[in-house]
Order: sequence, then C-alpha cells, then structure tokens
Amino acid sequence: RHRSIMRLVLLGAPGSGKGTQADLLKAELGIPHISTGDLLRAAVRAGTPLGLKAKAVMEAGQLVSDEIVLGMLEERLAQADAAAGFILDGYPRNLAQCAALETLLARLGQPIDVAIKLEVPSELIVERIAGRAAEQGRKDDTPETVRERLRVYAEQTEPVAGHFAQLGKLRVVDGVGELAEVSQRILGALPAGAPSAA
Ligand code: AMP
Repeated sequence: RHRSIMRLVLLGAPGSGKGTQADLLKAELGIPHISTGDLLRAAVRAGTPLGLKAKAVMEAGQLVSDEIVLGMLEERLAQADAAAGFILDGYPRNLAQCAALETLLARLGQPIDVAIKLEVPSELIVERIAGRAAEQGRKDDTPETVRERLRVYAEQTEPVAGHFAQLGKLRVVDGVGELAEVSQRILGALPAGAPSAA
C-alpha cells in the first residue's frame, strides 16, 4: 500500500523524533530520508566554505540562510534516488522556505503529498534532547541552544504547519510512545495509494 511514490514533509519541534522516525519510514517506504540538518552537519564536518558559514549559526540555534539551505536541498533532490519520492526532515523551516519548496517542486511536477506533524509535549522534548546530548554530543543540544531552537520553531516553523493545513495536506500525529508505535501511526496517516505517481 505504501510502496508508491510519496513525497512527504515531516514537521515537529527539535527533539520530537523526526530524524528517528524518518529513518524507520525510509526503510518502510523505500524512499530516501533527506535531512537539511544532516546535510549541513556534513558540510560543517567537511569544512566546506558553506559549512564554515553555517557552523556558528547552527551552534546558536538559529536558522542558516534560506539561500544556502535551498541550494543544498536542490542539489540533493536532483539525485536519482529522490525520483522515487522522499521524506523531508527539517525543511521547510519557515514560510519563505515553504514557498521556495513549492516553486521548486512545481517546476519538477512533483508536489508534496502530505505533511506529518509529530506532536510531543515540551517537557518530554527537553528530556529527549538531554538524552540525545549525552549520546551524540551535538553542539546545538546545550540547554541555551535548545531553548533558542524551540523559540525559533514556535515562531517560524509552526506557521508552516498552518500552511499545509490550509491546503488540506496536514496530518497531526501523536509522537509519544514506542518508536514502532509512532511509526505505525505515521504510516496510518499517509494518504492511500499514490495520488501523484501518475
Ligand atoms: P536539525 O537537525 O533539523 O535540528 O537542524 C539543526 C540545525 O541546522 C538547525 O538548528 C539550523 O541551525 C540548521 N538547519 C537545519 N535545517 C534548516 C533549514 N531548513 N533552514 C535553516 N537552517 C536549518
């Protein structure tokens, strides 16, 4: 049922489990997981000019410029595997990115099918990020940076969910529970068949 072309956006606060769920869904749906945060972290590690620019902004919990992120995303979407669909994680982060994405995908004739918003109460978010900080040592998982990232999410990314809701493409999914349980909820919220595979 889910083995069809599917272009999906995963929304949710930092620490809501987007990355973990995207990895599970990737296996289930056979489509790539495209995380702009992962692309940026790879650029930082590789020490590219772009990575050098992004590093301080990321460590402050703020958004890297729309232009830089869109460029990276365009490059990634042009790779062959994305023709089968994709799970977008961490993009769009604000309404301007949302408009840029829609323009880009309209040009490719590949509109977003559905946006899934993972909902997790903020007390749990703080707990989860503390756990991740201990495990992964991400530089932007410090308490101050997490506060800033949550603020940026509420201010700039929440409206993106509103936008997809207006289009009738938003599904809100409870992100509390076992990983497998949450991914079953997400799979259950996906549109059946392949609305735009034709
Ligand atoms: P994430 O892994 O999605 O939590 O992203 C980690 C950090 O990378 C964010 O706090 C931002 O600094 C940056 N970032 C990731 N995606 C974007 C995006 N779409 N626009 C701007 N900055 C981004």
